[in-house]
Amino acid sequence: MSNVAMKSAHGSDVGHTGVEEFQNYIGGEWCSSKAERFDNINPAETSDIVGRFQASSAEDAERAVAAASAAFRSWKKMPISKRAVILNKAADHLEAHADRTAREMTREMGKSLGLAKDEILRSAQTLRFYAIEGQTLSGEVFPNDDPDMTVYTLREPLGVVSVITPWNFPISIPSRKIAPALITGNTAVFKPSSDAPLSGYRLAEAFVAAGLPKGVLNFVTGSAAEIGPAITVPPAIRAISFTGSTAAGERICRSVGFTTRTQMELGGKNPLIVMDDADLDHAVDLTVKGGFSLAGQACTGTSRVLVMKQVLAEFTERLVARVKTLKIGGGLVAGMDMGPLATARQLETVLNYIEIGKREATLLHGGERLTGAGYDGGYYVAPAIFTGVTQEMTIAREEIFGPVIAIIEVDSYADAIAKANDSEYGLSAAIVTRNPRVMHDFADDIQSGTVKINRTTTGNLVNAPFGGLKQSSTSTFRESGRTGLEFYTQTKTVYRGC
Ligand code: NAP
Repeated sequence: MSNVAMKSAHGSDVGHTGVEEFQNYIGGEWCSSKAERFDNINPAETSDIVGRFQASSAEDAERAVAAASAAFRSWKKMPISKRAVILNKAADHLEAHADRTAREMTREMGKSLGLAKDEILRSAQTLRFYAIEGQTLSGEVFPNDDPDMTVYTLREPLGVVSVITPWNFPISIPSRKIAPALITGNTAVFKPSSDAPLSGYRLAEAFVAAGLPKGVLNFVTGSAAEIGPAITVPPAIRAISFTGSTAAGERICRSVGFTTRTQMELGGKNPLIVMDDADLDHAVDLTVKGGFSLAGQACTGTSRVLVMKQVLAEFTERLVARVKTLKIGGGLVAGMDMGPLATARQLETVLNYIEIGKREATLLHGGERLTGAGYDGGYYVAPAIFTGVTQEMTIAREEIFGPVIAIIEVDSYADAIAKANDSEYGLSAAIVTRNPRVMHDFADDIQSGTVKINRTTTGNLVNAPFGGLKQSSTSTFRESGRTGLEFYTQTKTVYRGC
């Protein structure tokens, strides 16, 4: 523990322990907290400490909010083309350091090097997208009877926004919040997940390298319990863009009151329907990709597979055969199909759900913690496939967020839709079919913010809206794409006489 609050020209330092320590970035300065530090652990090999971070105090978070408030007016007044230049320079920085940052991301949360690099490059694309798209956001002019008056709307920024993000996409999720917030003239306080702070640090560093004025983006690490209240309280915080679990999102929403704008991107229990006319090999591909890449730790990951009874046996046999061929190992090792779970807490939760599943249904394959050479130091679980799953079972209803697939038999399209919709979540849903009528109906009938036809439940475009229905999302403002800008602006109506 350090008792000294220090400022530094750089944000990191290797101390006597040999572990690199990373600082907060508040009011244009890299600085340490007077409070404790916490370690960021590699889930593939827990003896590897990826970095040491500030377990910031409420006071640190309050300073970050104050710095963002102080910077708001001049940032809002900066010409938008200059703000766009900064976003583009930050994108350049991300791209230039993509290899290093990808390795760090893999070490801190376990995804493969390839997925990590894709995420970083996609994040740079997000920054570039908003650098352009943000400049097209405009108001409207309204006809009126007074020839000497013009009536028009202005879109203006909200003020200080809080960006609170999870560990599973530790650069792309904050990028798609911070970029639209900044281009529209807001300032921000960014709190990354305590389980993947280094990727967030690298994103903040990219903005610093791009020349962002002081106070516009403030980066604070630490536990939700300690700094959460300070970065969510109105009126200093005008808006909160949060991605994480439904339980945490609900808690934040209940604590902030009705004047704070909130955008809550939450959990999922995403279904994939396999119709009797489906290309079964393609259906297996989509199930494996959606269910097991990222070890099932994507909010849009496939977790329920609803299969028509005519093809159930054949599909299940092919799925198990495919899953048996998956290579499981650390994300830094080339050719691995699935890595570890991200944290000890994730491991415990997933193994617990697998035990529940064993009591409820039939575990056809996997589900055990992997041990032995290459596995003992990490949080590895063999991809699990349950059959005989029915609607009322816990493993059919609750988000597991791990490599666990529940196969549910259905006997018609109507049955499949009814079961798919029988969930409190509605984030992403997919169907595999060759029938154009069914494709059309599915887009209408499914209660899901993201609808995929002959595609995996996972994945979304930078330039298209993203979000869920029901308990998967609370906001009317969608993230991503042009709609991603709307959350960060408010409308003023101006009546201008001469
Ligand atoms: P989490 O435990 O809810 O945490 C998410 C973030 O919120 C973390 O930074 C956490 O900080 C912070 N946090 C939690 N409670 C808070 C509070 N009261 N005030 C302020 N901050 C608070 O979720 P996770 O385990 O990181 O991520 C997994 C969940 O995210 C899954 O449910 C998944 O479905 C969801 N997710 C949704 C989407 C989507 O777009 N819909 C995308 C990805 C993930 P600490 O880390 O310090 O606890």
